[in-house]
Amino acid sequence: MTLTADAQEDARRPRIVIVGGGFGGLSAAQTLARVRADITLIDRRNHHLFQPLLYQVATAVLSPAQIAQPIRTVFRDQKNVRVVLDEVIGIDAPARIVRTQQQGDIPFDYLILAVGASHDYFGKDDWAEYAPGLKSLEDATNIRRRILEAFERAETAESEDERRAFLTFCIVGGGPTGVEMAGAIAELAHRTLRGEFRRFDPATAQVILIEAGPRVLSSMPEDLSEKARRGLEKLGVTVRTGKMVTNCLPDRIELGEESLACRTIIWAAGVRASAAGNWLAAKQDRAGRVIVEKNLSVPGSPDVFVIGDTAAVFTDDGRPVPGVAPAAKQQGKFVAALIADRIAGRDTSSRRFVYDDQGNLATIGRSQAVVHMGRLKLSGTVAWWFWGIVHIFFLIDFRNRMSVLLDWLMTYLTYGRGSRLITDPPRPRGPDIS
Ligand SMILES: Cc1cc2nc3c(=O)[nH]c(=O)nc-3n(C[C@H](O)[C@H](O)[C@H](O)COP(=O)(O)OP(=O)(O)OC[C@H]3O[C@@H](n4cnc5c(N)ncnc54)[C@H](O)[C@@H]3O)c2cc1C
Repeated sequence: MTLTADAQEDARRPRIVIVGGGFGGLSAAQTLARVRADITLIDRRNHHLFQPLLYQVATAVLSPAQIAQPIRTVFRDQKNVRVVLDEVIGIDAPARIVRTQQQGDIPFDYLILAVGASHDYFGKDDWAEYAPGLKSLEDATNIRRRILEAFERAETAESEDERRAFLTFCIVGGGPTGVEMAGAIAELAHRTLRGEFRRFDPATAQVILIEAGPRVLSSMPEDLSEKARRGLEKLGVTVRTGKMVTNCLPDRIELGEESLACRTIIWAAGVRASAAGNWLAAKQDRAGRVIVEKNLSVPGSPDVFVIGDTAAVFTDDGRPVPGVAPAAKQQGKFVAALIADRIAGRDTSSRRFVYDDQGNLATIGRSQAVVHMGRLKLSGTVAWWFWGIVHIFFLIDFRNRMSVLLDWLMTYLTYGRGSRLITDPPRPRGPDIS
């Protein structure tokens, strides 16, 4: 039997497997659009998620579908990509095989691992039950339910102490996510819920942001982090820096000797890379990120690349490349271009990834944000508009952009929140406070 020219061509096409349809994986697959290769994109979820707006789902401003897009839809017109919904459970790098839960072994010629990161409780994983973190849509709707339910429980509380505990919200970690969550919960309590309860005033809720370091937004210049702190305090958030959480329980949080009655804790303190380092038995940093070569390949496996939040990458002056969306996208693009050139037979031996730092943004609340880009520093309303435009622009789908824009305008004009739904089963009442 003789093969047709097309079939021979197909049999020779290199197989590129990309694990993860987040910012890094998507950008790699899109950069490979014109390459004659068979690309398999594996993700355990069917959607690409715009994590920077997750806190708005968790605080009822946006609904889940507004910040997510089916990965299959993204690649509808890119015929060299096949999307596979499955969980990767291991890699055999020498045999060039990806092991998956459902489909078994998937062979590759080139492999890109972009599996992101998850929460880190610094060895106290039992805290996760009482102090959920924010990484996925499920996390966001779970946190939304906890926040909204806390106000409902405050209405029916049997004692003042119990009501106070339901109206105390502790957010652990003063990075961008912690700051954004604290500001959004304070606005919910002080503005959105005004007049809706009969037995208490929602504005009496306490929102406490706890940070172990000396200041919030530590990756920003000091003056901007001070502005962020003042902005939070203006919204009614209590900012407690230099405080280390020592225990999280269903009805309280402990900070050394101090114990605070509190029914809602949100964890925004630690990040741990996904398991790629273990699959590859590769050298990792303290957060489990794979320490990669300058071209983002795994030492000893030149055709296996790790990018985004899963990789430990350093700039030429030794500073770590931050775990942010632009870094993951740039790395995806870089690795895809390198693979395309190798397939085309070009020499790639001198390639090295160079990070283009596009700055740092964080929003604090309505009309308040901080922006640091090179020598440019912005705060207040101008920064807030800038933050909003950037986020709308980077949302992946036009329909999502329009619907987020409309919801933001409504929230801005009315302080209302369109997604105040308690959709999952109620949480157990927890211990009584006497
Ligand atoms: C709440 C929050 C707010 C953020 N805000 C900002 C911000 O404002 N600006 C900014 O630049 N960055 C922000 N970030 C960081 C940014 O989202 C990440 O740096 C970026 O998503 C990293 O991209 P990635 O491709 O490495 O991983 P991800 O985007 O996390 O994608 C990883 C993908 O891998 C999949 N996956 C994981 N394990 C497996 C497996 N075993 N098998 C199959 N699939 C798997 C996941 O389902 C996911 O789709 C925020 C992050 C969070 C959590």
